[in-house]
Amino acid sequence: QLAPLKIPTRLLLGPGPSNAHPAVLQAMNTPPVGHLDPAFLGLMDEIQTLLRYVWQTENPLTIAVSGTGTAAMEATIANVTEPGDVVLVGVNGYFGNRLVDMAGRYGADVRTITKPWGQVFALDELRTALETHRPAILALVNAETSTGARQPLEGVGDLCREFDCLLLVDTVTSLGGVPLFLDEWKVDLAYSCSQKGLGCPPGASPFTMSPRAVEKMQQRRTKVANWYLDMTLLSKYWGQERTYHHTAPINLYYALREALRLIAEEGIENCWMRHQKNVEYLWEGLEDLGLTMHVEREFRLPTLTTVCIPEGLDGKVIARQVLMEHNIEIGGGLGELAGKVWRVGLMGFNSRPESVDRLLEALRQVLAK
Ligand code: PLP
Repeated sequence: QLAPLKIPTRLLLGPGPSNAHPAVLQAMNTPPVGHLDPAFLGLMDEIQTLLRYVWQTENPLTIAVSGTGTAAMEATIANVTEPGDVVLVGVNGYFGNRLVDMAGRYGADVRTITKPWGQVFALDELRTALETHRPAILALVNAETSTGARQPLEGVGDLCREFDCLLLVDTVTSLGGVPLFLDEWKVDLAYSCSQKGLGCPPGASPFTMSPRAVEKMQQRRTKVANWYLDMTLLSKYWGQERTYHHTAPINLYYALREALRLIAEEGIENCWMRHQKNVEYLWEGLEDLGLTMHVEREFRLPTLTTVCIPEGLDGKVIARQVLMEHNIEIGGGLGELAGKVWRVGLMGFNSRPESVDRLLEALRQVLAK
């Protein structure tokens, strides 16, 4: 006979998920209503408005995809990629490679521009790549969770207009914690997740498409090769028609709405500033412990820091002790950086000085041993 569920309460300072605010968990406990109930449809409208606010966009087609960040990622690719389209992907970490794989599966002619993990692309490098490849879509990862580097986006959208291509951006580890101005930066497609900077459990993932991207979708020669993520269908559920598409994970949408409401209450600019202030406090504390960061300061993310594992230490053993002895999760390296860095997230509700203090004390004790 199975015992009732018993999961420890951890402080989640890894690459995600982060801990949800208690009010978000409470909202999630609200009994579900039907997915076409007027009360639920009203909540969907509110989610759309709040997502536009946190992303700083007016895009009418802004929704939450029922699925994790990867589903929203796939939704961007699936809706605007047709077989033979040249898709240029900036690869400077693990998630750039995921975009490459995904776009290839939709029949795109995928080209890449690469950088060592932890570095970012300069505007002139992107210009040269656009001149060379003349893509239909340029895809960049704004916050590479595998490296902790922030890809600047200022000017990239203008460049894409010049070359008549769409700009697709991964904001999974930036939304809510890193300044984003989708309209000002002329971003055409973006996606994110619920479980990082928004401080909500995973499963309802922000997705947005500019009118330019919608136009490309409407001019497709072929049907979107993914039924579940087809925006021509999904937009009829989120739009006026309210046509049944799938049974939305009602309780997750309650949680997402509350998480977004809390951000709006704080003010998105204040939220960005809080993330920046707390991560600087973290960097200072890590340096005091004799540790160094993998990414140059100018390009470090406020949400995710990669910390170099000192020579001679087994990073996995240390992370395991931090988890088992102090109840704190930190992440290990991914891909090329496996065994070389720890990944420390300070996202959403977890971006607080108390989180930093708890982690630094745990690291101090474990490293001393
Ligand atoms: N893109 C980036 C940059 C990520 O960090 C992640 C997950 O950590 C994803 C995409 C995929 O999101 P998910 O794990 O929610 O499917």
